[in-house]
Amino acid sequence: MTTRNMPFIDLHTHSNASDGTLPPREVVRLAKERGLMALALTDHDTIDGLAQAVAAGKELDLEVIPGVEISAKYFNGSMHILGYFLDYGSELLAQRLAVLKQARKDRNPQIIAKLKARGIPITMEQVEQISGGGQVGRPHIARALYEAGQVRSIQEAFDIYLGNNGVAYVSKFRFPPEEAIAMIRDAQGIAVLAHPFTLGLHTAETLRPLLKDLMNLGLAGVECYCPEHSPNEEALYLSLVRELGLLVTGGSDFHGDNKPEVSLGRINCQPRLTYDLVTAMKAWREKALGGGG
Ligand code: AMP
Ligand code: ZN
Ligand code: FE
Ligand code: FE
Repeated sequence: MTTRNMPFIDLHTHSNASDGTLPPREVVRLAKERGLMALALTDHDTIDGLAQAVAAGKELDLEVIPGVEISAKYFNGSMHILGYFLDYGSELLAQRLAVLKQARKDRNPQIIAKLKARGIPITMEQVEQISGGGQVGRPHIARALYEAGQVRSIQEAFDIYLGNNGVAYVSKFRFPPEEAIAMIRDAQGIAVLAHPFTLGLHTAETLRPLLKDLMNLGLAGVECYCPEHSPNEEALYLSLVRELGLLVTGGSDFHGDNKPEVSLGRINCQPRLTYDLVTAMKAWREKALGGGG
């Protein structure tokens, strides 16, 4: 199949409803400026930006796919599950995400307290100001550390303080994968495994059983295209996805100025993701909704 004349898309982006820097409507506007045909907004653990993004999409005539990125519990590395085509008016989805919102609210002051114990005087107010009213995550605390001159870069803030091995790290509540997938499916969405490289499984033999388990729980696809995948990783994911009959997806993981090296709609400087991926996702969803009720 030729993709040469296909319009381009991006299926993994963040706004300031989570830890991106642009408001949802500005992410959509930028996508339009880049000439994209479809964009999914996939904020971490929240759907608060979706109404604004969808409205902006209507105004600008750009297809906005309502999405989310949920952190799931996994013994090794980190597992993120993307949800697409969500009914973001779902009360049940809102309730389930509220659990995660509360977990963050409980966690952030604990991180601040750990920093304070080390003589670093960052306040919750500073961090909230940086987040601009959206939900607070570690990248905002990292920025506060940077702005206070405590670290030379955001990366250093993670390396020393906030990363999983950092001295001020605090873990947070996560749903197990089956619940993350169920909450997406119950909201009429389709579930996709994000950036598999973060799972720490680097061979077909180790990744295949996990993908099969997730498929049995209702996983529809795998994010094969991601700026952080090496060519070898990308090839591995594509071959497993084809073998197992899953959907291929991809996205830039755009975060605005919080990840300045990432460009909306591009994977390593190239627009590589084409609209046929969206068509396949829609067909999968129709089948799942039609078949399962
Ligand atoms: P949170 O949702 O508050 O746990 O923050 C997670 C976000 O922090 C991720 O989406 C990344 O953007 C960022 N992050 C996590 N670990 C690191 C790290 N080691 N280095 C840089 N950024 C990180
Ligand atoms: Zn993020
Ligand atoms: Fe992620
Ligand atoms: Fe992301």
